[in-house]
Amino acid sequence: MQIRCYHCHKPFALGNETVHAALDMIAMDNLSHYNAYCPHCRRANRISPDELHRAAPTWKAESEEEESAKS
Ligand SMILES: [Zn+2]
Repeated sequence: MQIRCYHCHKPFALGNETVHAALDMIAMDNLSHYNAYCPHCRRANRISPDELHRAAPTWKAESEEEESAKS
């Protein structure tokens, strides 16, 4: 996904692996957002889970799958 830095207004890309890792982190730790660090100014940009889900529509939380497998 492409992000425009809120601080220096330069665009940068988050790879699919990073987006998936971010969604895993949010699901596991119940976070309200993910901090994506700008490679230009190294400051954090808050990315909402909604934006991440839009960038990775195939991602699913692992814990949900485990729960349905147990029962
Ligand atoms: Zn920046």
